[in-house]
Amino acid sequence: MQVEARHWPTLREEPDGTLTLTVEEGVTGAVVRALAEGVTPPLPFSVRAFRALPAPPAGERAITVDQTNHSVIAGESVVVKWFPRPSRAPQPAPDLLAHLSGFSRTATPYAAIYWEDALVALVTAYLPEARDGWEWCVDEAEAGRTGFAAELGALAAELHLAMASPSPVFPDPVRLAPPAPGERPDGHGPASAGPTSDETAAGAWAERAEEALRDALALTDGDDGVWLASREPELRRELAPLAAAGRTPLIRIHGDLHVGQILRWRDGYAVVDFDGNPTVSAATPGGGAFQPAARDLAQLTTSVEHVGQVAILRRGSAPERVAAWVAEARDAIVDAYRTGLAEAGRSDLLDPSLVRPFEVEQECRELIYAARHLPRWRYAPMGVLHSWYGADPAFTK
Ligand code: ADP
Ligand code: MG
Repeated sequence: MQVEARHWPTLREEPDGTLTLTVEEGVTGAVVRALAEGVTPPLPFSVRAFRALPAPPAGERAITVDQTNHSVIAGESVVVKWFPRPSRAPQPAPDLLAHLSGFSRTATPYAAIYWEDALVALVTAYLPEARDGWEWCVDEAEAGRTGFAAELGALAAELHLAMASPSPVFPDPVRLAPPAPGERPDGHGPASAGPTSDETAAGAWAERAEEALRDALALTDGDDGVWLASREPELRRELAPLAAAGRTPLIRIHGDLHVGQILRWRDGYAVVDFDGNPTVSAATPGGGAFQPAARDLAQLTTSVEHVGQVAILRRGSAPERVAAWVAEARDAIVDAYRTGLAEAGRSDLLDPSLVRPFEVEQECRELIYAARHLPRWRYAPMGVLHSWYGADPAFTK
């Protein structure tokens, strides 16, 4: 049985290859019902099923929070995330969702929908009463509560342990970073072959972070730019451990693990959105799919710092109280994360020396993102950097 084309989205391809997806009202519900009935989509659409989808009740409504894509809830039970500008570049999410089939703390994945080789939608379970961390975590900051932090750390550890467990999709989920170019892996024979597309040498991470620092300096103008330039040597010093990183383990990571991707819903916390970091591509040096776990952890801790800045600006929270909240929350996240790995005998997955440099790189990326896409966001990374490096150059060493 084939779906009628009018019950399916339409896709336009421009002469330059750009794809634009149009989803009429009512189509999401029809698509989900079609998937539940196992009907064949109109070519060249295709479906990759992760598990059987229960038929949803009628009705649909769009999710209205700040989002990159366009998510619609069908029958209060299924979420379809439509990608308005589908890309033919390989997308990480479908493989990750298939790999994570034993990980329960995400929205149960049902299917991925493609147009030719471009991913157009991901279909997952709806999590009732979900709010993302840009809401619930800001409430915690305002109230000065840090109980959530241990749960977040444990959740991140659980995610990485699942990432590091073999599956048919990734039978070999933990890889070792190749030695830096020119470095001999064993101190004897010739240097091994250079990094493959999925593996990344420390040299490439250092290059990637340096590029982010350069771009952040170039793109941040006005007083903020002057202040940032005054801190350039300190920032660069913080990145130095990247160049010296040893042969650390690499796993598939979430890639964009900020609090906005952590939903607090009726039954606890869940991590969603495995689409990767929109500001990093495979073409970025050191942008391979397998990464040190420290990258996700660093993004999580910095996002809690950003939550603190949001609480100061939007809720009028006192900066000193927020600073104490951030420090306590960060420590609790990292402690719980390390405990989670240790209890599973996998402490090796985290190289702690990489966390700080990745945090600094992340703040640079936030500044780049603000400059290119969202100028009003600049206050958040600037606030964090001020709290790290002192607001006035005259008072620092
Ligand atoms: P985007 O790529 O657009 O950021 P996300 O997958 O992060 O998409 O989802 C955007 C928002 O939609 C989330 O922040 C959350 O508020 C809501 N959301 C996403 N998935 C679910 C779900 N399974 N159940 C309930 N709400 C969800
Ligand atoms: Mg998201």
